[in-house]
Amino acid sequence: MKQTFVILLYCTALCGCRNTEQPFKMIEQVDFSHIQITDEFWEPRLKSHATTTLAVCIDQIENQTGRIRNFENAAKGEGQHSGIFFDDSDVYKALEGIAYSLINNPDAALEKKADEWIDKFAAAQQPDGYINTFYTLTGLDKRWTNMDKHEMYCAGHMIEAAVAYYQATGKRKLLDVSIKMANHMMDIFGPGKRHWVPGHQEIELALVKLYHVTKDSRYLDFAYWLLEERGRGHGSKGDEGTWNPKYYQDEQPVRELSKIGGHAVRAMYMFCGMADVAALKKDTGYIAALHRLWDDVVLRKMYITGGIGSSRHNEGFTEDYDLPNYDAYCETCASVGMVFWNSRMNMFTGDAKYINVLERSLYNGALAGVSLAGDRFFYVNPLASRGNHHRKEWYGCACCPSQVSRFLPSIGSYIYGVSKNAVWVNLYIGNTAEFSVGKNKITLTQETEYPWEGTVDVTVQSVTSPLKKEIRLRIPDWCDTYSVAVNGKELDTPVEKGYAVLNQIWKAGDRITIKFHMPVEIVEADPRVKENIGKRAIQRGPLVYCMEQVDNPDDFDKITLSEDMRLSRAFLPLLNGVVWITASNDDWYISLIPYYAWDNRKAGEMKVWIDYKE
Ligand SMILES: [Zn+2]
Repeated sequence: MKQTFVILLYCTALCGCRNTEQPFKMIEQVDFSHIQITDEFWEPRLKSHATTTLAVCIDQIENQTGRIRNFENAAKGEGQHSGIFFDDSDVYKALEGIAYSLINNPDAALEKKADEWIDKFAAAQQPDGYINTFYTLTGLDKRWTNMDKHEMYCAGHMIEAAVAYYQATGKRKLLDVSIKMANHMMDIFGPGKRHWVPGHQEIELALVKLYHVTKDSRYLDFAYWLLEERGRGHGSKGDEGTWNPKYYQDEQPVRELSKIGGHAVRAMYMFCGMADVAALKKDTGYIAALHRLWDDVVLRKMYITGGIGSSRHNEGFTEDYDLPNYDAYCETCASVGMVFWNSRMNMFTGDAKYINVLERSLYNGALAGVSLAGDRFFYVNPLASRGNHHRKEWYGCACCPSQVSRFLPSIGSYIYGVSKNAVWVNLYIGNTAEFSVGKNKITLTQETEYPWEGTVDVTVQSVTSPLKKEIRLRIPDWCDTYSVAVNGKELDTPVEKGYAVLNQIWKAGDRITIKFHMPVEIVEADPRVKENIGKRAIQRGPLVYCMEQVDNPDDFDKITLSEDMRLSRAFLPLLNGVVWITASNDDWYISLIPYYAWDNRKAGEMKVWIDYKE
């Protein structure tokens, strides 16, 4: 049986030639508007997102909670604010999800709903551009007095939604509202004006998106200024009595950071903002800091599921290797944040190690955040449960459901990248993609049963003229043995930074076949993770497995994996279709399902790390 040190897995990748890495963005993402997902794993999820997840979010926002009413009241200037002070952000994130959904699945009724909401947002905007229903309804005189009250966080999510909706529909009403709010913020804050350290990062990456759409460099400069404000004593000193600058990454100037700490989602959004700004400002200090931070989180503070932020106390990080299972926090938003950040790191470096982490977070930590039906969500994603942890339709703090609503319809964006010399195939998802490579237009298809099976066919369906570019195929870190063939002829391909490099002139009809050997693996944690000493986990391909009590009703706590276990697998129609794994010896017969699929049946215990007998 093969055993692997999960955390150490990444060490080999780390020895890569950092000094010769291209420091600025070398790869552009092929965004999901160019991609139609057609496989049996993701396509049903995108359908249930469009039909169910969005409907749940809209119902919660309009009927079950006062989120839309807050905008209506703010427009009238009367009535109460209900809910939490940052509830506006959920409405914006759901709208972003609607926008993304409209791009590949036009829906007139959904678009009408979005227009209705946008009218309400616009009506709630103050004449000077300010928009935030909490302060509008509780006292505008107190606005911009407390850095922990998420005014810029909400503004950031509005900007992201506005950019998404503008790109989806060409309608710019919310974009104009956002520009007015951004200008309002820049009237008050900035060089020679007031200092400000947003307590919850998000605005920085949003301002870069606003810059890309408007081409107005003031928004980029403002994002840069906000990042540079941090760690210089300008932030709130925890006047709420609970938190300190470490919690919201205000302890040190961001370019000096080496250790990840504090709130996990805030850290992820900040790193994305730093990467976006660094790409445009050519700030090598930011890039160096991001490399150090990546090492710290991936080598010492990440779960096997790609989840991060182990502690409920600060929704974030503690000490190195402190990765409890029952009490793992692993917020869904933090796993999605890992996808956002690792994608950016890959675009700087062309190194597959970032996509390996992205894939781990995507298929495990993030995907567990939504039920198979698309109607229930996890906020917290433990790696073991005594049977009392279940997905809910919504949360008082509903960042995770609204996060899922905007993340799922955009997953197509992580499949391909394009650089000067190459097309990069990062994820293996069945799809048809049409995009430009230089002056050429290419249509590629992928046919695969990934993540259940490791065979992938990538076919050049059409190309405007013969394409002399590399096609770079990511070789996942979980895969030891693979083959690559072009038009049926097996090739010995060089591998650079985790990509098999195919260099030839491509024409319509060319077919690449990749076969990844995908055995069931028994995985061992780094021995410094105390919780997992004497335990093992099961993984196959990108999927981490778990055992649930519903399948293993007898002696759940005593079940033990052992060296002599026979491992087998079968594709079963249960749980929307999964490869089911069984491990058996003379004492035990254990059934395991993919971690993302847990808590979709009868309530009961669950664990990823299982006792192991040598
Ligand atoms: Zn969340």
